[in-house]
Amino acid sequence: MRFDTKLVHEGQRTQVGTGDVIPPIHVSATFDQFAQDPARYYYARGESPTRENLETCLAALEDVRFALAFSSGQAAAAAVLSLLEPGSRVIASDDVYGGTYALFDLCRRRGVDVRQVDLSDPAAAAAALAGDVDLVWVETPTNPLMKITDIAAVSDAAHRAGAVVVVDNTFASPALQQPLAAGADVSLHSTTKFIGGHSDLVGGALVLDDPALYQRLAEHRTVVGGVPGALDCYLAHRGLKTLSLRVARQVANAWAAVEALVASPFVGAVHYPGLPDHPQFELAAAQMSAPGSMVSFEYLGDVDELLRRTELFAAAVSLGGVRSLIECPASMSHRPVPREVRLRAGVVDHLVRLSFGIEDPADLVEDLSAAMAAASYAERS
Ligand code: PLP
Repeated sequence: MRFDTKLVHEGQRTQVGTGDVIPPIHVSATFDQFAQDPARYYYARGESPTRENLETCLAALEDVRFALAFSSGQAAAAAVLSLLEPGSRVIASDDVYGGTYALFDLCRRRGVDVRQVDLSDPAAAAAALAGDVDLVWVETPTNPLMKITDIAAVSDAAHRAGAVVVVDNTFASPALQQPLAAGADVSLHSTTKFIGGHSDLVGGALVLDDPALYQRLAEHRTVVGGVPGALDCYLAHRGLKTLSLRVARQVANAWAAVEALVASPFVGAVHYPGLPDHPQFELAAAQMSAPGSMVSFEYLGDVDELLRRTELFAAAVSLGGVRSLIECPASMSHRPVPREVRLRAGVVDHLVRLSFGIEDPADLVEDLSAAMAAASYAERS
């Protein structure tokens, strides 16, 4: 099966007996041990049919054997980081989601050595991966600067250093980027974003092919209990069916707005991997099937005012849903990152991040352009 067919068919077998073309949602928390032959389900913190259906699809989309769904992207990330011990060495992207930074901080407090470097810079990546490393954490495209890291090259160097490679694939989704095929060991998703796709659930997933690593992570999840409920699994799986259709429209919408942003007198730098002047333009074109629908830019007016003035773009964190969103990383998604660390990574106070939905591109461009003009210092003075 090809990708778009898997989206619709994997984990969705027709129910023998009733003929449902969509499997029922199994809400049971516990399972009668004598009503199953053979007994497969015991207690829903450990295993659950609706969650397994979602996991079957997620694993198939990246052509591997295993997927583990979690109650959030953070719970998925925390499961991976729980494998580390005091003294473990981690090399991670310098520009990461604020919540990931907060998790790194927790690791540091229990004696894990987490070093954040610009992994999109091949020389910096090679130098950082020269010694012993236990885990390499790649976010690509990065949140919010859209820097692109060469997954194949970093995975190669990381494996030589003895490290497990995790790629946070949230910004691209499996529709645009396949980290495991490029050599990474674990693909991490906040399913809250493109996979769910409708901003109506919070969830996460780890996708991988190594049975031993899968066992450790599955045991951790059962013990700690960061599992998603059946209804959220159903919603994420329902969302997956339209992933390719949504993403194609979202990318087209992002392009329409990027053209307007580049031409706008109210805008400084525009960060979008599809722009020929993006520092990793060629790598993005080779590694991703499209540049995505996340864009950030430096706004030369009053950012708070801009966020207040857009009507179609809701001023909200998160991304990947059908409705377009606008946010300011410094005061919203990346608030947990200390200002000096944020500025060192290039996330300036007046950076604005956009997540494109599936609305009509002309409406989005009009909304953004009108709000930018109205919130510009020039306009108001
Ligand atoms: N990774 C990235 C790149 C994110 O943007 C987010 C959330 O915004 C997460 C992970 C965490 O996911 P969740 O909010 O589902 O816990």
